[in-house]
Amino acid sequence: MYSKNDIVTITIDDIGTEGQGIGHINGYALFVKDTLPGDKVKVKITKVKKNYGYAHLLEVLTPSSDRVKARCNNATRCGGCQLQHYSYEKQLDYKQNKVRNCLIRMGGCEETFIDSVMEPIIGMDNPFNYRNKAQFPVGRAKDGGVSIGFYAGRTHSIIDCTECHIQSDISNRVAEIVRSWMIETKLAPYDEKSHTGLIRHILTRIGYRTGDVMVCLVVTDIRVHGIEGLVDRLKVIDGLRSVCLNINKDRTNKILGTDIVNVYGDNYIEDYIGDIKYRISPHSFYQVNPVQTEKLYNTALEFAGLTGNEVVWDLYCGIGTISLFLAAASKRVLGVEVVSQAIEDAKVNAKANGIANAEFVACPAEDIADYLDNSASFDKYKSPDVIVVDPPRKGCDAGLIDTILDISTERIVYISCDPATLARDVKILGEGGYRVERVRACDMFGMTVHTECVVLIQRKHT
Ligand code: SAH
Repeated sequence: MYSKNDIVTITIDDIGTEGQGIGHINGYALFVKDTLPGDKVKVKITKVKKNYGYAHLLEVLTPSSDRVKARCNNATRCGGCQLQHYSYEKQLDYKQNKVRNCLIRMGGCEETFIDSVMEPIIGMDNPFNYRNKAQFPVGRAKDGGVSIGFYAGRTHSIIDCTECHIQSDISNRVAEIVRSWMIETKLAPYDEKSHTGLIRHILTRIGYRTGDVMVCLVVTDIRVHGIEGLVDRLKVIDGLRSVCLNINKDRTNKILGTDIVNVYGDNYIEDYIGDIKYRISPHSFYQVNPVQTEKLYNTALEFAGLTGNEVVWDLYCGIGTISLFLAAASKRVLGVEVVSQAIEDAKVNAKANGIANAEFVACPAEDIADYLDNSASFDKYKSPDVIVVDPPRKGCDAGLIDTILDISTERIVYISCDPATLARDVKILGEGGYRVERVRACDMFGMTVHTECVVLIQRKHT
């Protein structure tokens, strides 16, 4: 048996859901962050439990053939990327397996069956600099200066870094401009512990196709002395379309407060997915990887099998991105989302694109059947032919699954950003008379352990 502080040499033979390497000694599993299958490593044991333990990497004795040099010097400390030291090809295998294993272990699917329905993961052509949205925390550096960067894994200590390799170069440049302006104007960064200071976060959003740039400073007070000076400096950035302040006075981990004050240009940017133009506000949910989003939505469109005659529900619709993407191929689409501001954006987006066969309601997805029962003008949506769901990580609410089983819709297209909750829901749907027909993962988050996945689930006809 091993004890804390023991130093051992092991070969890593597996990789966990958080990206940690796993090695076994006589059947005892040790989790070691920053290691990969195939690595022979020297580690120090940090925690011992009955069947498994944790260890800290001391030295890579023989590197795995899949190990590559991380581009970012902060890769091991930053909480953002967990897999930069893994070849991209292997990152894709890892994600493919993650989805497969979840569907087998938690989804109640047979191995051979999953292998017959699972298509190859859609990888990225360039897995770097893909993000269209950055949220840099701002804080006081140890030497008294301004620290801008990212949180270290599982903490709120800021790693100073404005050269993030998964962000757009524009976002990195904006962060540096804000830093030099803060230093010159002597504006205080926010201090989480004492709840003092002014500037908390820098939020940027970039329109991939339009080139629009939004800079939103999250501040504790609307009075930001010298903000015009920042706007002048930011004007060197091509496409600058919006500079705004978001006021967040609360002692909270939530990044954005409710109120937004515009200080330059519009209070939104625009971007395209396919032929559809979307308006994006600081608060709106919008997929962070624009190139892969188009591939993801095309996969959902293909799985939906639309002929032009279908009534479609797009549940968890955000600003209506998927609804509008599917509208041209269907009879009509109903978008449902709990955030009412997002529904307002969705309506504006439908109108701006001249799409008349999509309507939107602000309502929890799990309450949609009741909502329709109580509003006669929505009768035409009562029996959907296809239901698309794209829930947050916690998956679909149990009440929604009951509704789906109740109305026994023919096809469900499930878009998921967490294969574990996807598998949980697939199992319940499976027990209720549905069957998985197609599965395709899509990598939206290169260098991280996260993956997106689209599943076609069809009602069984006996
Ligand atoms: N389909 C959109 C958004 C997906 S993100 C897109 O691709 O851009 C998930 C969305 O679900 C968020 O907009 C979130 O506000 C919304 N949401 C969370 N819980 C919900 C619920 N119970 N009912 C409806 N929408 C919900």
